[in-house]
Amino acid sequence: MHGFNKKIGVLGGGQLGKMLAIAAANWHQPIHFLDQSADYPAGPFASGFTEGDFNEYTPVYHFGKTMDVLTIEIEHVNTHALHQLKAEGVKVHPQPAALEIIKDKGVQKLFLEKHGFPTPAFQFFDDEFLLAAAISAGSIRFPFVQKLLTSGYDGRGVAVIQGVADTEKLLPGQCLIESFVPIYKELSVIVARNEYGQTAVFPPVEMEFNAEANLMERLICPADIGPNICRKAEKMAVELMEAFDICGLLAVEMFLDEQETLFVNEVAPRPHNSGHHTIESCFTSQFEQHLRAILNLPLGSTRLKSPSVMVNLLGEPDHEGVAKYLGLEKCLRMEGVYLHLYGKQKTKPYRKMGHATILDTDINAARRKADFISETIKIIA
Ligand code: ADP
Repeated sequence: MHGFNKKIGVLGGGQLGKMLAIAAANWHQPIHFLDQSADYPAGPFASGFTEGDFNEYTPVYHFGKTMDVLTIEIEHVNTHALHQLKAEGVKVHPQPAALEIIKDKGVQKLFLEKHGFPTPAFQFFDDEFLLAAAISAGSIRFPFVQKLLTSGYDGRGVAVIQGVADTEKLLPGQCLIESFVPIYKELSVIVARNEYGQTAVFPPVEMEFNAEANLMERLICPADIGPNICRKAEKMAVELMEAFDICGLLAVEMFLDEQETLFVNEVAPRPHNSGHHTIESCFTSQFEQHLRAILNLPLGSTRLKSPSVMVNLLGEPDHEGVAKYLGLEKCLRMEGVYLHLYGKQKTKPYRKMGHATILDTDINAARRKADFISETIKIIA
């Protein structure tokens, strides 16, 4: 079954929801959101906005019960309610069992291992004290990466531990540690799948990180990797989506090391920051593709119209409060610059406040424009 005339519900009303709503508007497709406040980015673009906590059973159940298709823009949602809704006939994409695997980094790693996907070697610890004890006992090799199992996103639950002197940087809580990969490039591949099992893969992108905040600052499309690695990365993304057996989108973050070995870092079963450039640079945006996939419509072409660079517009490190934007007009004067602001009232250090996509047939020219944008746009309080 497929169709346009379905009521879509989305758990989460942030910027990903906003961009989904904009894509839905092209089809005059009703789209409703559940999140704490209608002042969040998706609010003004929603057909309906229900205020409530998507981590709680009751709001998710009641919201979902009035929808034909339910999807997410964040994986930390109440999956008990999703199981119940699915049992009662609501379409839930991605399926709740996959969400439960993905939202816990440890369970996700075990899934990757079990299905034979290459991922850095890992080991679990119940808390930081047991990890510190293992370090003292000399049974841990440096450097390693510590990751909290559930509370982390945008680099907040991740610490790179170089040696004994770094043990004071250990994060508190249940965690896993992972062997440190000497990363040559960080890649992301987004794949879509509908209920018929049709899949479509967006061209792999390269992600560049802000070292201080440990979150993606810039992406380059297409990734500067050879055709073999490209095919391998695309194939792995499709196989992962099939292993999770989900419909919608799956963003697969990968590491490529200097020996050209690919590792899966982590996955997200939803539109992703590493696909924002697709709005302008691909035949179909990731947001429209997500709608096509969850409505069981034919998937769109993922072909690239133009190389592109995307920069996240992050809150300035020392500023917290009502957001003010400096330098926007200078950037709008440049050809091929597409500005997206999420309308968040308050800025915080490194908060994602917007992004800019730059199209240029010459990727180096696009990089120079991206440098200019990063230097010129300042989001302050
Ligand atoms: P988050 O879910 O918070 O984005 P990630 O697991 O993606 O956390 O880690 C954030 C960043 O930390 C990665 O993009 C990468 O730069 C670095 N990192 C994570 N794991 C490793 C690893 N095993 N080896 C080297 N660097 C890593």
